[in-house]
Amino acid sequence: MAELAFGLMRLPLKDANDNSSIDKEKAKALIDRFLELGGKYFDTAYVYHGGESEVIVGELIADRYGRDKFILTTKLPLFDVKSADEFPVIFNEQLRKCHVDYFDYYFLHALSCDRIKQAEELGAFKFIQQMKDEGKIRHLGFSFHDSSKVLDETLARHPEIELVQLQINYLDWDNPTVEARKCHEVALKHGVDINIMEPLKGGSLANLSAASRSLFTKVNNDSNVKWAFRFDGGLDGVKYILSGMNSLEQIEENIAIFNDLRPLDAKEKETIKKVAEKIIEEGHIACTSCHYCTDGCPSKIAIPEYFHLYNQRFDPEDYENVLQEFKDLSLKNGKPSDCIACHSCEDKCPQHLKITELLKKVARQYE
Ligand code: SF4
Ligand code: SF4
Repeated sequence: MAELAFGLMRLPLKDANDNSSIDKEKAKALIDRFLELGGKYFDTAYVYHGGESEVIVGELIADRYGRDKFILTTKLPLFDVKSADEFPVIFNEQLRKCHVDYFDYYFLHALSCDRIKQAEELGAFKFIQQMKDEGKIRHLGFSFHDSSKVLDETLARHPEIELVQLQINYLDWDNPTVEARKCHEVALKHGVDINIMEPLKGGSLANLSAASRSLFTKVNNDSNVKWAFRFDGGLDGVKYILSGMNSLEQIEENIAIFNDLRPLDAKEKETIKKVAEKIIEEGHIACTSCHYCTDGCPSKIAIPEYFHLYNQRFDPEDYENVLQEFKDLSLKNGKPSDCIACHSCEDKCPQHLKITELLKKVARQYE
């Protein structure tokens, strides 16, 4: 059965406007609780929290727990790399920051068609194989955002890959851009292990409209989060399901869910499909709050936060609160209508969202 993994990309912050300002005391409490409750797997990356997530691994995990007490994955940021000389520099920096002498898993980060080409031209696959041969990596993998065809071709060319990290949740299962179902089938065909990222689609599947929620409650009283995890947990070949937890309540709730991760039965599968259809009908913006788009926005627009608020527009009882949140956010950041359509954010979006068009929708809704 799949196990819960702690994604270290949404840790509590001291300053909400500074993604690198991790609140170490709070992060320490979360990490300790996760390990105390039986969790073991941590997922970080060179770029998470502006580089500070790997520092947290070193200071709060590796310095305080034996190496056999945790499983660690980090990732090579190909999007920040121009030449192969940078691979060993980054890799050694990661070992130093994480205070470890090997990584259990090491991924090429966020591969897509273009990035795979870049990785092959620069020899990134060869580099990680070499690090594995030297004992500095136990298992090789990549996280992936592209079509099932690209995944199939890549795995066929790279039998050294042991695990792929895929975006799978019930909303993306038949999404023609994400192709979660088909990517899952491809991974099974190649016999690689699967990690799941975005099981809650950046948290959006935790907050459903009353209409969607009522479809679930007609069947049982499991939380929205539990429905989503049970969907993913019932899939074949899944090793770890990631959750970017940032409160003790989330850790305790998630661990309790994973201790009772029954696969969905036929009726529940039918229901979750209807909920997915309802969410699509409601015009949800499929943002996962990864924040890859926000660095470098000349208008300092809080893109994922605005998209999150847009997705909250359905419940009349909450509408005043959402509106107030929108006003507060606009005071501290650029407004959606401040977008100058430079499009620099869109290239960075792994969900391939048309951010400029979507910001116009948000502006029409709330401004
Ligand atoms: S297109 Fe708009 S939101 Fe995107 S970076 Fe440019 S100004 Fe910011
Ligand atoms: S708009 Fe795209 S890049 Fe930006 S946070 Fe959402 S999913 Fe990530």
